Amino acid sequence: MSWEELIKTKEGYLRILEDVMSRVPQTIGKIGDRLIVLNPEILHEARRTMIMNFKEMAEKLNRDPQHLARFIFKESGKPGSLESERLIIQGKFTNEEFKRLIELYVKEFVKCPICGGLDTKIVSEKRLRFLVCEICGAKSSLRKI
Ligand SMILES: [Zn+2]
Repeated sequence: MSWEELIKTKEGYLRILEDVMSRVPQTIGKIGDRLIVLNPEILHEARRTMIMNFKEMAEKLNRDPQHLARFIFKESGKPGSLESERLIIQGKFTNEEFKRLIELYVKEFVKCPICGGLDTKIVSEKRLRFLVCEICGAKSSLRKI
């Protein structure tokens, strides 16, 4: 169906709207003076979804791509793999779903729960992991993923 035909129906209109909205870059916040804007390049294939610039996105968040990938597999319940720059997820995965998972990840594993800052790092001590804030110094425990 063409856009012209699609836009005439309510479902079609909503689908286009969702598609357009999901292409709007996602502003996460600031790390130091750097504004973190994520712009996932998502390709949908019949049986899998690829996020082409996944590694770059993880690096912008100052996180290990493996860690972010594990979070996405676990939370979405879908298997996948990390192949150099790309994340491959088995099954259908919408742009909206992906953005929502990134938001959840930032909330849990990047953002300091005390001051809300994003200048944080994950440190391991013995078998535990903590989120350490570079701004206020808070140290919060993290679940293992
Ligand atoms: Zn803090």
